[in-house]
Amino acid sequence: MLLNMSSETKEERKLALVIHGGAGTISRALMSDEREAAYRAGLQQALRRGWEVLSGGGLALDAVEAAVCVMEDNPLFNAGRGSVFTHNERHEMDAAIMSGEDLRAGAVAAVDGIKNPIKLARRVMEATEHVLMCGSGAEEFAREAGFEFAPPEYFFDELRYEQLLQARREDEVRLDHTPLKKFGTVGAVALDTRGHLAAATSTGGMTNKRFGRVGDTALIGAGTYADDQTCAISCTGHGEFFIRTVAAHEIVSLMKYKGFTLKEAAEQVVHVTLPELGGEGGLIAVDRTGNISLPFNSEGMYRAWMTSGSEAQVAIYPD
Ligand code: ASP
Repeated sequence: MLLNMSSETKEERKLALVIHGGAGTISRALMSDEREAAYRAGLQQALRRGWEVLSGGGLALDAVEAAVCVMEDNPLFNAGRGSVFTHNERHEMDAAIMSGEDLRAGAVAAVDGIKNPIKLARRVMEATEHVLMCGSGAEEFAREAGFEFAPPEYFFDELRYEQLLQARREDEVRLDHTPLKKFGTVGAVALDTRGHLAAATSTGGMTNKRFGRVGDTALIGAGTYADDQTCAISCTGHGEFFIRTVAAHEIVSLMKYKGFTLKEAAEQVVHVTLPELGGEGGLIAVDRTGNISLPFNSEGMYRAWMTSGSEAQVAIYPD
C-alpha cells in the first residue's frame, strides 16, 4: 500500500530537465552540417545522462551535475576540457551549483587544471562552510580532496587557440572593445520527483579575458540560482551584464514579489533588463511546477530539454 502510494506520488510529479551549451554569435552560415550534428549529439548525450538520474528517482542536484559533467568533458563546449583561453594563454574556469531545497550553494572561480569544476563546486558546497573559493586556494582544496587534474594538453584545442589569437589581434586595433563575442558556457536546471529544484553552470569564461577575471557563472544570484519556492536558473552570455543586473536572482524576485510567471520574469530579464545595458546572452529556467523557459537575445543558444510526458528536444537557433 505504502509502496503504491509513493509510486503514485512519483508518477504524478512532473520532472523537468533543461540544459544549455552557451549562447552567442552562432551563425548558420558558418556552421557546417558536421559541426551542427556534433553539437546536437553532445547536447543529447548530456540531456540523456541527466534524465537517467531524474527518471531513476535521483536528486535534481545529481541530475544537473551529471549533465554538466558530460558537457565539461566534451571539447565542443566552453567548459572543462573545451574552455577558452585567457589573454595569457591559460584556462581559468568558473562553476557553481545550487540546491533549491535549502539554498545551499557552492562555487569555484578561476581554477586551472581541474577536469570537472562543477564537481569541485559541489564539494565546496558540501564539505566546507564556504560558498565560493577561487584560484590557488580552490586548487589546493581540490588536491587535498583528491580531485582529478589534467595537464595543459588536455585543455588545448586548435580552434580555441585561433580564437584567442584573433581576439588578441582585434584588441590591438580596437582597444576599447572586441567585436568578437567569444563566450559560451554550459548549464543545467532540473525539477526532481521530490519537487526540489537545482541549478548548475560551468564555463571557461570569455576568450582573451584578463587573468583573474571572474564572470557571472561563479556568482550565486548572477549566473546561477535555485529556490524551491520559485525556480532554478542557469545563465549564459556576457557575464559582466549578468553580474550588474544580478540576472538569475532578478527572475526569482520578479516571481516572488511581483507575481510574474516564470516566462514573464525570464523574458523581462533577457529582453528588457539586459538589453537596456547592452547585455547579450540567454538563460534556462524551470519553476516549481515544471514550467520551463529558455529565452535568449543573441543569435543562438545551444539548448535541450525534456519534461515528463514529452520527447527530448534539441535546438540551436531561434524557433
Ligand atoms: N557568462 C560566461 C562568462 O561571462 C560566459 C558565457 O556564458 O558564455 O564568463
